[in-house]
Amino acid sequence: MSVKFPVGKKFALCLTHDIDVLYTNQSALQLLRTGIKNAITFNIKGVMKSITKALHKTIEPDYHIHNILNAGKKYNAKSSFYFLSLTQGEQDFNYDPKEIKEVFELIENNDGEIGLHGGHMAYNNPAKIESEKTLLEYAANKKVNGYRNHYLKFQTPATWEFLNDAGFIYDTTFGYADNAGFRNGMCHPFQPYSLTRNGFLDIFELPLVIMDVTLWRYMKLSQAQQYALCTALIDTVADCNGVLTLLWHNTQMCGYEGELYGRILEYANAKNAWMTSAIEIVEHWKANKYHEAVNEIVLQLNSE
Ligand SMILES: [Zn+2]
Repeated sequence: MSVKFPVGKKFALCLTHDIDVLYTNQSALQLLRTGIKNAITFNIKGVMKSITKALHKTIEPDYHIHNILNAGKKYNAKSSFYFLSLTQGEQDFNYDPKEIKEVFELIENNDGEIGLHGGHMAYNNPAKIESEKTLLEYAANKKVNGYRNHYLKFQTPATWEFLNDAGFIYDTTFGYADNAGFRNGMCHPFQPYSLTRNGFLDIFELPLVIMDVTLWRYMKLSQAQQYALCTALIDTVADCNGVLTLLWHNTQMCGYEGELYGRILEYANAKNAWMTSAIEIVEHWKANKYHEAVNEIVLQLNSE
């Protein structure tokens, strides 16, 4: 199977970002300490600032989303952003999608994609998937096509079937949290086959290859090893004219981690990568009917 990418690019680097956190929570103790310090030094302005922060909890409303967009700009790269769509009181609730209009606008103005980051309870619950999708579509005022579940929670094949029925065009949850690499041995998008429905689902899977925190939190690699593994995986995918899906959280966009993200993009660009959002890759796949070629190979392998 021969895959071609737009404007003579050799492979694709799919840039994706799970937005777990938009508001940094300074602990009450921290705020109290700063407040007392300011009070002792008669810094009235400082005291007022501490009170305001405590009341609004807003420190950086876009929390490094600018950094992601800026890192991609010099390569004309586009990104997909997956937002939690939770309500107050739910596990890991951090922001109300109805209150972050300016974040959605920032992404839209930079040709980014807005997708759903399904919560802890969504992956095995079709009604929850539906309600989270409805809330996000209402808040962002647009149709949501892409999905990744929080903590990469996934149930094969049920999650695919639920997402398919909810009208998602693609999912990109399918990867290992504890190891970078190819969970299903493939670096090309594919349509999952449903044994219960006796056919391929309409939904596409873009397998997840590298998640940022996998490199240090799970695999505990040194900084040199992290970069070496990322470039080796890029080389492999480039050789196969494949798609490498990268998950970089907005919370990992400053300091060393932010620099590593920039170095990965720089390396991929030098290897002639098409760096773009997940939805653009799926649209390209569909337009060229590459999925049909993959499906034929799968059917052939199964009949042998
Ligand atoms: Zn998450």
